Amino acid sequence: MNFRVGFGFDVHRLAEGRALWLGGVRIEHTVGIVGHSDADVLLHALCDALLGAAGLPDIGHHFPDTDARWKGADSKVLLREVVRLIGERGWRVGNVDCSLVMERPKIKPHIPAMKRAIAPILGVEEDAVGIKATTNEKLGYVGREEGVCAYAVALIAKG
Ligand code: MG
Repeated sequence: MNFRVGFGFDVHRLAEGRALWLGGVRIEHTVGIVGHSDADVLLHALCDALLGAAGLPDIGHHFPDTDARWKGADSKVLLREVVRLIGERGWRVGNVDCSLVMERPKIKPHIPAMKRAIAPILGVEEDAVGIKATTNEKLGYVGREEGVCAYAVALIAKG
């Protein structure tokens, strides 16, 4: 069995008048995330972790923000395409683990829905999708609620 790990990081600005999509789930909040697609920062970090594990170029290469096709795109579509790309090279997903860093709203109640949204796209059980959330202790751009960031690792396997 051949194993690889990958790491992903993403950051997006928060602003009024935008929807808040995180982990494939829409969350009601006073502000949302700014981006070319639905700006789902958690799924973007996850895409980069999977692409990195397979030694492929990053999410910006595959889905450039200059391409109108991806304007307002559901990031679950991007994740599905990433799983297809690594699958073409013989890789399947083992497990993933993600950390979301933001001050508000509370993410914990939404984690089960995120796992339900992500697991079938990756072709894994829900317990192979780790999602944690933490605040940034009111420090820096996350603490000032100017932005949100996410980290992800992924294990992929072949053979
Ligand atoms: Mg992004």
